[in-house]
Amino acid sequence: MILFTLRCTADHHFEGWFRDGAAYEKQARRHEIVCPVCGDTGVEKAPMAPHVAKSRAAASPNAPTPAQMRQALQQLRRQVESNCDYVGDRFAEEARRIHYGETDPRGIYGEASADEAKSLKDEGVDFATVPWVPPTDA
Ligand SMILES: [Zn+2]
Repeated sequence: MILFTLRCTADHHFEGWFRDGAAYEKQARRHEIVCPVCGDTGVEKAPMAPHVAKSRAAASPNAPTPAQMRQALQQLRRQVESNCDYVGDRFAEEARRIHYGETDPRGIYGEASADEAKSLKDEGVDFATVPWVPPTDA
């Protein structure tokens, strides 16, 4: 018996046992091998080491997937929410007061209009704009 890692045209990977290589070829040609995920019969042998990065991802092996990006942003949001004061639309005002030492330096977060963000930048106020994702995927 021989174990092949197979993949369908939708790129699902799964494993199949065959008597030998020829048996696999015959079944594949007859479309007798069915993807257990989507039922596709356009199955081919995947590279022997399934953990090897696929060629289209090889250029940037460390590039996060969209799901990882989202997770990182959710984590960022949680950090900001637990460590910073929410000041809502007074963000520009508060950021300025902290910048000019009129109030205790602390982490704040809130909303600023594009104009406000621009003038804060012009005044050299240090702040970052982050994509605000929903706290969970639900
Ligand atoms: Zn499939």
